[in-house]
Amino acid sequence: MSTHATPTTHPTHTWQNWARVEGASPTSVARPRSPEEVVDLVVAARERGATLKPVGAGHSFTAIAATDGIQVDVGALSGVLEVDAERGRVRLGAGTHLHELPALLAPHGLALENMGDIDRQTIAGATSTGTHGTGARFGGLATQLVGVTLVTGAGELLTVSEEENAELLPAVRLGLGALGVLVDVTVQCVPAFLLRAHESSAGLDEVLDDAGWFTAPDHAECYWWPGTDRVQTKINTRLPLDTPYTPPGALGRWVDQRVVQNGALVVMSEVARLAPATTLPLNRLATKVLGEKTYTDRSYAVFTSPRDVRFRECEYAVPREALPEVVRALRDLVEREGWRISFPVELRVAAADDVWLSTAYQRDSAYVAVHRYWKEDHLPYFRAVDALMREFEGRPHWGKIHFQDAESLARVHPRLGDFQALRDRLDPDRVLANDYLRRVLGD
Ligand SMILES: Cc1cc2nc3c(=O)[nH]c(=O)nc-3n(C[C@H](O)[C@H](O)[C@H](O)COP(=O)(O)OP(=O)(O)OC[C@H]3O[C@@H](n4cnc5c(N)ncnc54)[C@H](O)[C@@H]3O)c2cc1C
Repeated sequence: MSTHATPTTHPTHTWQNWARVEGASPTSVARPRSPEEVVDLVVAARERGATLKPVGAGHSFTAIAATDGIQVDVGALSGVLEVDAERGRVRLGAGTHLHELPALLAPHGLALENMGDIDRQTIAGATSTGTHGTGARFGGLATQLVGVTLVTGAGELLTVSEEENAELLPAVRLGLGALGVLVDVTVQCVPAFLLRAHESSAGLDEVLDDAGWFTAPDHAECYWWPGTDRVQTKINTRLPLDTPYTPPGALGRWVDQRVVQNGALVVMSEVARLAPATTLPLNRLATKVLGEKTYTDRSYAVFTSPRDVRFRECEYAVPREALPEVVRALRDLVEREGWRISFPVELRVAAADDVWLSTAYQRDSAYVAVHRYWKEDHLPYFRAVDALMREFEGRPHWGKIHFQDAESLARVHPRLGDFQALRDRLDPDRVLANDYLRRVLGD
């Protein structure tokens, strides 16, 4: 047992995730202030036969972060620890939130290469579930990490980088919080850049039949409103930072994001919930009123936007070439079941990577994400989509609702066995276990 001071612990509280679909009552919450305090926590838990689980911002839709043991909040391990200006690399505390990065990286002229839809997550939480954005030439957040320091389930401080324990890098970059507690991560950044966004609408079939629609632009995504044949599209083009531009005004942006997008969505969702027959007309209306616009801004301000309306989500990665068939099968399913879905289906792409548990492992991928308003029963829709995706060798997002277990996941994740073996080595007593990890990785 080490001699460091005992980390701060707080009385029992009840924890809920953002989507209000999972909750837990940890025995206590620990807020370590240093890697050594994390070591103490893990060693003490292991000695007592207790479990602990690090938690980020609670933005996973699954119970991946839930624990009935000790909840470890690494929020105090935050901010920039080291900058390698020559290589554009930044070592960050694991609890750093993505929304803090623009201010932290600006003095160094750096940015994340690619981002998902929101910036509320912690960097450790986001990478641990395989958080991704869109872009046929770009990988998810885990691919941007070139090093991590973690406290393993055995209580050892382990550095993994291109120079040290390099063979473990493809595993620990996306570790589900199953191998240890990340205390810092080193991100390979890129020079800060602008994005020019073009938002418009198109026919669903037009997008699906155009082989280059998702792959030609830097970043392409679209939202299909079930029951309609239209999609809203968003194409982002990367531009050098010194490109002359006028950023959208703060008030205009607030009105657009908070009132037009989120405000309208909550009204639509509530109306559709109370009067389901209005769902399809409202979906059709949505594809018409959210018109065309072009704007340019800093990368993070274009990649991400606020999500005020609570929802639940299930997302699968499928081989990219299967996307048209998958979406058409999904359209048939929704029509056959007569479901009225007031939230759009989001379609994105990512490049193949080498991260063991990545949804894009050695496979150029397309993502199909289905959503339901949080006050509606998501289960019948999500279960059917889950079953459908299995027909296409779909890999579920680890942080989004799915119904797979270790046996079925082994069929689509060729490195799952290697990951399980590494877990046996780094967390032999399952100090980091919870119900979700038992389901997807086994005991
Ligand atoms: C509104 C919304 C929008 C989203 N948009 C996207 C998107 O565009 N793309 C996408 O891919 N996903 C998206 N997600 C999913 C989200 O990015 C992931 O679920 C992410 O994991 C959440 O990060 P978090 O900090 O909340 O982590 P949590 O949900 O709190 O934890 C996730 C996992 O990380 C582990 N973890 C946390 N901290 C540590 C640590 N220090 N060491 C080891 N493990 C740790 C936890 O134990 C758990 O296993 C979205 C979610 C929401 C709610």
